[in-house]
This record gives sequence, C-alpha cells and structure tokens, in this order.
Amino acid sequence: MNIYESLCDIIGGDYVSRQAEDLYIYSRDSGTQPPRHVDYVVMPKTVEEVRHILMLANRERIPVTPLGGGFTLSALVVPHKGGIVMDMKRMDRIIEINELSRYALIEAGVSQAALRAYLKKHHPRLQHSTPEAPPTVTIVGNALIQGHGHLTPRYGLHSDMINGMEVVLPTGEICKLGSSALSPSWYARGPIPDLPGLFIGWFGTTGVVTKLSMKLYPRPHYREVLVFSSDDIDAIPEVIFETTQLDLLEDFFLIMQEKPDWMNHIFYVVILSAHFEEELAMKMRAFTNLCNKTGNGNTIKVVKDLHPALRTRFLDVPPKAAVAADFRKGGGFQYSAAILPFDKVPAIWRKGIEIAHKHDMIASYVHQVLTCHSIMFSFNYSFNRADNNDIEAARQAIDESNRFTLDIGGMIWKGEADAQKLVMEKMDPGTANLIRKIKKTMDPNGIMNPGNWEVS
Ligand SMILES: Cc1cc2nc3c(=O)[nH]c(=O)nc-3n(C[C@H](O)[C@H](O)[C@H](O)COP(=O)(O)OP(=O)(O)OC[C@H]3O[C@@H](n4cnc5c(N)ncnc54)[C@H](O)[C@@H]3O)c2cc1C
Repeated sequence: MNIYESLCDIIGGDYVSRQAEDLYIYSRDSGTQPPRHVDYVVMPKTVEEVRHILMLANRERIPVTPLGGGFTLSALVVPHKGGIVMDMKRMDRIIEINELSRYALIEAGVSQAALRAYLKKHHPRLQHSTPEAPPTVTIVGNALIQGHGHLTPRYGLHSDMINGMEVVLPTGEICKLGSSALSPSWYARGPIPDLPGLFIGWFGTTGVVTKLSMKLYPRPHYREVLVFSSDDIDAIPEVIFETTQLDLLEDFFLIMQEKPDWMNHIFYVVILSAHFEEELAMKMRAFTNLCNKTGNGNTIKVVKDLHPALRTRFLDVPPKAAVAADFRKGGGFQYSAAILPFDKVPAIWRKGIEIAHKHDMIASYVHQVLTCHSIMFSFNYSFNRADNNDIEAARQAIDESNRFTLDIGGMIWKGEADAQKLVMEKMDPGTANLIRKIKKTMDPNGIMNPGNWEVS
C-alpha cells in the first residue's frame, strides 16, 4: 500500500487530500514567507487516528506538521520539508466545562470563537482569555505558542493557564499530563514534574496535543476603558510601572500610528472591569488621579473625547486595536513581536520608527503589557501581496526588527524559521544542547515539523 492509500485506510478518503487545489492553501500563510511544498493534508477526528498517522509517518520517515488555525503569520505551519499537514479542525469537541473548578476541557481544533460562544450561552458567569487574533484560531495553537489575550495582564500568558494535556508522541504513545495523569479531573498542572513544558514553545516539534484543559475566569458585570495620551517616549517605562503597580486593571495596551495625524501619539489604553458599579467608579477615579499625578497634568492627559466607535472597539472581546494598522491594498500583514522588560521600550520604540521609514512605511504599533513584568512589542508591517518588492521590504523590516530585539536583550515571539535560527545562534550553548537532546529523545526520527528550532 502506498502512503496515500495508508492514510485513507486510517481516516477515510474524504479526510485525506493530495489534490493541488487543497495543497495550494496549506502551502502558504498570509505573512511574508514564500510558499513551500506540501504532499498530503489529513484531518483526523480521533486520538486513535492521530496515533496511527504518526506511527505511519514515523515508520516511513515522513514529516508531520500539526495545524490549528494557521494564523501565526510566521509560517510555523507551512512545512519546510514537505510531508503531511495534520489539520486538527475536526477535533472540535468541547468535552467538559467544570463550573466549580473553572476549567474547559477541549479538543485541539476548538476555536477561540467556538469556546467564547459556548461559554456565553451555557456558562455566562465564566470566560476565557481571548487573543486579538482572527476568531478561527485555536485555543490549543495559541496556548502552545505562549499567546496572550485580554486577561493576560491580570492572570498571565495562555500557556500559564494550561491545567493539563493529552498528547500523542511521534512514536505513538499517548500520555496525559497534569492532574489528569492521576485523576479523572483536569483541575491542576502540578505538583508533579511539569511535562506540559515539553510541548509549549516547541512549535509542534515534539508531538501532537489532542486535548487541553484551560483555566476559566469570572466574567465581571461591568467594563470600561480609559485612554491617556502622551508624546514622552522616555516616560513610557515609568507610566507602565505606575499603572501596573495599582494592580487594578484587566487589560492594558499601548498604541501609536503615524497616520492619521491624530493617532500619532502614545496612547495608553487601560481596560477596567468590576462586579459592582461602585467598584468600577473607584477604579476609574484611581487611574484618572494616577494619570494627573504621573504627568503633572501636563505630559500625560486623559483623552476626554474618546470617539464612541473607538470605545466600542477597545471594549470588544477580543479588542480590535490592530484593525487600524496601516493596511496597504493587497492584504499582506505580519508583525515582528518582541518580548521585553519595560526599560527597553523607549529604545525599541525609536528603532521601530527608523526601520519603518527606511522601508517607506508608516510606523504602527500595538503593545500589550503582558504581566506586571514584561511587554509584547509588535512592529507591524503591512504589504501588498501582489508586489514582490513590497513583500521583500516587509521581510527585511521584520529581519531588522528581530535582530534589534535580540541585540537589546529581548526575545522574539513566534518567530519564523530565520528568526529561530538567530535565537539558536545567540542561545547559551548548554541550553541549545539540552533542547537538541530533548528533541532527539522525543522525536528520534525528526519527523515533527522539521526546520523549526533546529540546532546545528
Ligand atoms: C490580526 C492578528 C492579531 C493577532 N493578535 C494576537 C493576540 O492578541 N494574541 C496572540 O496570542 N496572538 C495573536 N495573533 C497571532 C496568532 O494568530 C495567534 O497566536 C493564534 O492564536 C495562533 O493559533 P493558531 O490556531 O492559528 O495556531 P497555528 O498557527 O495553527 O499553530 C501554531 C503552532 O502550534 C503548533 N500546533 C498547533 N496545533 C497543535 C497541536 N494540536 N499539537 C501540537 N502543535 C500544534 C503548530 O505546528 C505551530 O507551530 C494575531 C494574529 C493576527 C493575524
């Protein structure tokens, strides 16, 4: 039996494709990376099917790339060495919502929008932290790349919200990680060795996650937005420190865009939520006073006439702050994302403007303050997908942004393969060696998403 027939035998011919028009879609994403070759696309429905596909691929040494929503923009799901793209979207069951222990047990293909809608309808007192990404992206794909959402400043990265997982190793073993290894309940991650870390940040190079338990949080009754504006780049670290020091906010991000002119300022967007009206009023007062005190009523100002459309956009979950980013005609968009300590923000802010101007673009930023300790700074670059020069300019701008991020001691988030190479070159050799050893142990034949996190 050939590979195609074997795959059909495992999951049925309707869910395997080697048709050119299907492969075309899976051979690219909407970022700047060039298209790459795909041999087969499969859409498994059960963990047993995943297991049998991986065992076949392992035996025949065929690369496998797991795919959730495919929206990282850095082509993490476009295979470097051909083979099978494993699209998880048919594994879309919301298996359990545990109201009392506040977690959702889901399969790998459940999208952000599906969980949000389900909770709204059946468990309106609970919510999950939602990224500002397209609604079709998956909870699992996002958590595995250490994504962030509207509750991150309060509760941490989405990878920190994982209680446990079911995973299939390339060699075919199925493992349960977290409390589910010992109990039918998926309520906690420890206290046992923290094995979910073997799959978080690895870009699908160690195995396939088939189920995941995600923490849920109370959904407060009231939400409001407060926006401050300023032009003082050097004051940004102190403003972030003082704002997070109050320990009262739900979400916090900074935006700036050179055009239209009214957006060419630093805007601090603070989202507040509360269970009681008085609580919300108290929080609004506290942040207004803080703004007046920090800026001496002069360098930072509360935006009093926030346009109702912007208010709605900021308060949406997910918020739509990035919608304003300078989208040129042609629909291409990618951002280089730097994870930084607060004191590095002025330097990267200025560098971002320099890089954008060098490539004839307007500078446009959205930065989410992740926790009280770090910020995700995104250099946004839009480009015309029909114009190769434009794509090349955006690619170069991303490369320069990535290099600058590493130069000032930052880390690149969900970087494309070239960015991963820069990271591996800079990494402590002992750490790089440990990564290589773990990878070799878990995926002895190197079939899982090869080309990512490769250590020479
Ligand atoms: C406009 C826009 C705004 C965005 N805003 C945000 C934001 O606010 N916050 C944020 O975090 N991100 C954001 N993103 C980035 C990205 O879209 C999200 O992080 C998205 O949630 C990634 O999920 P996905 O399902 O698309 O993952 P995919 O791209 O499908 O996968 C990501 C990685 O995980 C691996 N993987 C996927 N599923 C599995 C599995 N079951 N087992 C093992 N490995 C797997 C893949 O191989 C890949 O390496 C944004 C993107 C856009 C376009």
